[in-house]
Amino acid sequence: MADSNFVLSDLLRNNIRNITPYSTARDEYQGVALVNLDANENSFGSVGNGNYNRYPDPYQFELKQVVSKIKNIPVDQIFLGGSGSDEGIGLLYTAFCEPGIDNAIVCPPTYGMYGVSAEIHNTPCKQVPLTADFQLQADKVIAAMDSHTKLTWICSPNNPSGNSYDREAVRKVIEAAKGIVVIDEAYIDFSSEKSWKEELPKYPNLVVLQTFSKAWGLANCRLGMMFASKGIIAVINKIKLPYNMNGMTQKYACEILSKYASQKDDYVKEILAEREKLIPALQAISLVKKVFPSDANFLLVKIDNAHDVYNYLVKEGIIVRDRTKVTLCEDCLRITVGTTKENELLIEKLKQL
Ligand SMILES: *Cc1c(COP(=O)(O)O)cnc(C)c1O
Repeated sequence: MADSNFVLSDLLRNNIRNITPYSTARDEYQGVALVNLDANENSFGSVGNGNYNRYPDPYQFELKQVVSKIKNIPVDQIFLGGSGSDEGIGLLYTAFCEPGIDNAIVCPPTYGMYGVSAEIHNTPCKQVPLTADFQLQADKVIAAMDSHTKLTWICSPNNPSGNSYDREAVRKVIEAAKGIVVIDEAYIDFSSEKSWKEELPKYPNLVVLQTFSKAWGLANCRLGMMFASKGIIAVINKIKLPYNMNGMTQKYACEILSKYASQKDDYVKEILAEREKLIPALQAISLVKKVFPSDANFLLVKIDNAHDVYNYLVKEGIIVRDRTKVTLCEDCLRITVGTTKENELLIEKLKQL
């Protein structure tokens, strides 16, 4: 949507628009004091040998400065999730969707959390399937929008298909939407496509999600990112849990992110090289009917009797994702690109079938 017509407060739920957020001890006094007796912490220390007795920074200011540099986006346009980008998904429903009244749009087959989170928030979800080659049907998405459509979920590169959507189709949806359009870029580091975060200044209704779980190899930290206008981020900050990211994650991420950014790039190169080897190796197996084009660190593979192949692989100790019951993914398995050894073992086991 164009800037001039966008009024954020019109989209928010009434209760959220007027909410007074919880004020933490850290909100009320910032800075270093001689004695801190304001947060009912254990002043003597923490059990074990750690230094964990004080509450962490509720807004992760230091970490946001690091992320701001890496991602080239101002601190006040960043929200960080301490439960991954999944946290941002839930908060967007909380902010915008009046339970039982407002609705969202999802384009299956896609990431499951958009729908699960919709159910948790009692928000009806309209389904506008992708085409057979997993592209967005922009006109149908736009036709499905009504005055209560607050969130439209676009995952690009998409999980589980692996492809990126045609950029102009995505743009059409953003420009036509009166509600928020969320672009989930969990796999953007593996793609040659440009991130939509560069276009945030142009589209006030755009929200971009990214994560440190995939390319950066930090899934265990549960560190997710949301980029949006200052106004949207201010609302999300008002409704998030007070201390939504623990201090260990904040400290660790501050230490390593800028230092090891080039290691992330090396991982991406390695994973992409493995992916390019895995594609022909899979295609050479007679049971394999199709390997779908991928812009991500996984491949969607159409296989004869895929469900049986899945069970066979489980017995051999190799776990892939069975997507055979998912819209448009009949007889498909989703296979993460592993290490050279892991991929070779997978191929060897499939050859033995
Ligand atoms: C893996 C994945 C996520 C989850 O990211 P976290 O930051 O680990 O919560 C989000 N979106 C998509 C599409 C994913 O595949």
